[in-house]
Amino acid sequence: MGILEKIKIYSEKNKDKIAIYSENSKNKSVTYKELWDYSDRLAFYIQNEFKDNKFPIVVYGHKDPFMIVCFLACVKSGRAYCPVDISVPDERVKDIISETKSPVIFSLEKLNFDTENVLSLDEIESIINSTNDKIDESCYVKDDDVFYIIFTSGSTGKPKGVQITADCLNNFLKWSSFLGGENLENKDYVYINQAPFSFDLSVMDLYTSLYTGGTLWCLEKAVQLNYGLLIESLKKSKANVWVSTPSFASLCLALDDFNGKNMSNIKLFLFCGETLPNSTANLLLERFPGAKVINTYGPTESTVAMTEIDVTSEVLNKYSPLPVGKPKNGTYVFIMDEKGRELPEGEKGEIVIVGDTVSVGYFNRPDITNKAFGTKTVNGTSYRLYRTGDEGYFKDGQLFYCGRIDLQIKLHGYRIELEDIENNLMKIKGIKNAVVLPVKKDGIIDSLTAFVVSESKIESSLKSMIALKKELAGFLPSYMVPKKIIFKDKIPMTNNGKVNRKKLMEEL
Ligand code: AMP
Repeated sequence: MGILEKIKIYSEKNKDKIAIYSENSKNKSVTYKELWDYSDRLAFYIQNEFKDNKFPIVVYGHKDPFMIVCFLACVKSGRAYCPVDISVPDERVKDIISETKSPVIFSLEKLNFDTENVLSLDEIESIINSTNDKIDESCYVKDDDVFYIIFTSGSTGKPKGVQITADCLNNFLKWSSFLGGENLENKDYVYINQAPFSFDLSVMDLYTSLYTGGTLWCLEKAVQLNYGLLIESLKKSKANVWVSTPSFASLCLALDDFNGKNMSNIKLFLFCGETLPNSTANLLLERFPGAKVINTYGPTESTVAMTEIDVTSEVLNKYSPLPVGKPKNGTYVFIMDEKGRELPEGEKGEIVIVGDTVSVGYFNRPDITNKAFGTKTVNGTSYRLYRTGDEGYFKDGQLFYCGRIDLQIKLHGYRIELEDIENNLMKIKGIKNAVVLPVKKDGIIDSLTAFVVSESKIESSLKSMIALKKELAGFLPSYMVPKKIIFKDKIPMTNNGKVNRKKLMEEL
């Protein structure tokens, strides 16, 4: 059964059950029935208004439960949605709008620039309140149709849109609804949502919750930044399932009140997106004796995650770093060398994912799609294949992640192509060349430093650094703006004319 059918059943059986809760948003919550009916009416409006225009629809906002009403309305009308969080800077939002050719923009928060065909939250609500019309089920996105598009950092300086089909999402949910070894369905669980909806980690909490008839408890950015409010909200949530990046959990672990007494219902901690340090997993097991810690791995291009391991104390004692687990049913992981040859257990190579959750490629970008994607037949079935650019190996049947082959990194859970920052730095007037490097603390990437060459000599002063950072923040999300900028006369090169990143590393 697919996600829409599941939500429909809950909307009939558990009408008044809260599906999405977001305390500080305009619409605090929606029940399953409201979610179903409102999205039906909005879908009818979309179909009626835009008929044959099937371009994806941008949904801009933060954590208002009506974000999800809009997502479902788009897919019920047969269109993919593209979630964009308020943390995305204006220039990127503009890029995404023009790239997707979105016929209408559902703008639940105010956009900071003028653009055509925008519907505000008030207008969306009035559409929903002024009709009882229902969309016909025949309009829904089909199995092979794109359900959502999530834009991630792209090396050219423009984000790339990963297209996930309804089939990919449903195959992911069949697995995620059993994470931790039990069927999560009909358990009345409350799921914590930390990630903004424009990050694919949020798919794990949002749709696993809706697929299993749970309640999604959204932590808004303002709550995440205020420790008092955060602990208060977590206590109040009575959450059972936690989904976040390991970085966010370690930030919470710095607070003494983040413990099993204050959150006595927690059963599962689900992690994805970056390395789960042994220390974080260890502390969680200590502070939450009744909970399991599950490490999962995967890129947006393979629908959030596709490997899983229950990090028990035995696993913690046996492995450091921790493995990312075994692939789910329907997914096969190969370790390959540069020539695409499969490597045996124990040997390091590129992690290549083959299976039923691999994306159909990047929106409108056959060039980069062809480079990263392909097909492969396994046991007589042909699947899509994705070359992750991650390095890894198998040991004891478990997959281990070693880092990146290219210049993509993870900083506090955010996926960043260093070249994306470099290209945006070079868009700034007067900047000739730029190289961005990750700075590690205790083996974990902690910040970014940019080396910049300008047309006229600029002193490496605090003032010039602040000015440049401010300009860059106009193009990039704040987490992508390097903490430190060093002005240089020239960038060192290797013998074959490449930027000598190793040499620059020595200057950090
Ligand atoms: P994203 O598309 O934002 O989910 O980022 C995907 C990338 O995050 C992967 O290609 C890996 O480099 C990294 N990643 C995801 N999960 C893990 C994990 N459990 N451990 C280490 N790195 C991870």
